[in-house]
Amino acid sequence: MKHTLMTLPFEENAFEPIISKETIRYHHGKHHAGYVNNLNKLIAGTPYENMDLSTIVKSAQGAIFNNAAQVYNHDFYFNGLSSTSTTPSPELLVSIQRDFKSREILKKAFLEAGAALFGSGWVWLCVDEGGTLHIEQHANASNPLLNKHTPLLTCDVWEHAYYIDYRNARADYLHKWWELINWEFVSQNLALFAKSRN
Ligand code: MN
Repeated sequence: MKHTLMTLPFEENAFEPIISKETIRYHHGKHHAGYVNNLNKLIAGTPYENMDLSTIVKSAQGAIFNNAAQVYNHDFYFNGLSSTSTTPSPELLVSIQRDFKSREILKKAFLEAGAALFGSGWVWLCVDEGGTLHIEQHANASNPLLNKHTPLLTCDVWEHAYYIDYRNARADYLHKWWELINWEFVSQNLALFAKSRN
């Protein structure tokens, strides 16, 4: 199957001044698009050609893994942003309360994990096989599918995600990004996980 670049569910300038139109345009139109194009070239004529994206992520290595995972991760990142105010579902709130004690503690732990991640990568909120929420740091293109965990939310901490707007101040970017989270998307991901266990 041919992979396509997702259409952003918001305008390029939807997050100004927190994330500039220029950042969104380069991030989606150059970086994200580049991974999609590379992936399509790399899988042509290979056994990966007819696999869906998450199956490639779970089974490929090297350049095919890197490009497939970067497509998956960026789809997840952009779907996790909202230009309107959203709220977590009651089920998500119960899980956050149970596993982090409070939303403030989750926020602090997530932002610290993102700021502390060395080099390029991603910070994720995920759910393990038992249904427990936790935070994972992943370098480069890696993601929680490799741990057989279900992702709920991610933040991109590659420099291209924030350098135009924040230069080297990654922690500032993370704090501002937190205000843009699409909690309906996070809640849907948890609901799909719960449904898959029934
Ligand atoms: Mn990125």
